Amino acid sequence: MTTNSIATGNLFILAAPSGAGKSSLIRALLERHSHDSMQVSVSCTTRAPRPGEVDGEHYHFLSEAEFKEKIANDEFYEWAHVFGNYYGTSRVYIEQTLAEGIDVFLDIDWQGARQVREAHPHAQSIFIIPPSLEILEQRLRGRGQDSDEVIRGRMAKAQAELSHYHEFDYLLVNDKFAQTLAQLEHIVFAQRLKVGLQQVRHAAKLKDLLANGG
Ligand code: 5GP
Repeated sequence: MTTNSIATGNLFILAAPSGAGKSSLIRALLERHSHDSMQVSVSCTTRAPRPGEVDGEHYHFLSEAEFKEKIANDEFYEWAHVFGNYYGTSRVYIEQTLAEGIDVFLDIDWQGARQVREAHPHAQSIFIIPPSLEILEQRLRGRGQDSDEVIRGRMAKAQAELSHYHEFDYLLVNDKFAQTLAQLEHIVFAQRLKVGLQQVRHAAKLKDLLANGG
């Protein structure tokens, strides 16, 4: 890593069990900020699109052969096999977007989070939990007409994801949406003020201040 690379955008990892409200939080956060300052990475996946999902917007939907070719070509910043499907983050997108000074959010699972932390130790990782299992179940049921069996499966998967909360830098309880959104925004704002970034941004000012103060 060059000294200049610290002047790039910040990388945020967001993980949560399904139903914790992660996607809605990211969407709301992006609505409050310009595309030039903050983006969410669109992952590749081999899972089939759900009703309403748009290729290139929610995911890049790929065949398993296409996905494996990208793995072989080292095109993923991270990838994982999550509940029977492959998911991965485009390396080129992450590197280019950060280099443009834009903050990037990764909506990925705990396995991907581990890989990103290793590749990018400055990444800030945030885990979002629901206030209770009852509320998680209500939210999962509220989504559609899934059978009891599907809901039970989703609850088990949610608890498997939850068990990794301690690997993250921040833990947010998504009880009141507006409050959680504000907390998420505070993490982003605080990260932007870290000395490592500020000293690059304000290099001339600091040089001046230190020269005149000596
Ligand atoms: P879903 O199929 O419900 O959209 O996502 C299932 C899980 O895969 C979620 O936990 C989601 O965060 C995770 N996921 C989505 N994209 C990626 C990715 O690019 N990499 C990894 N490791 N996980 C991902």
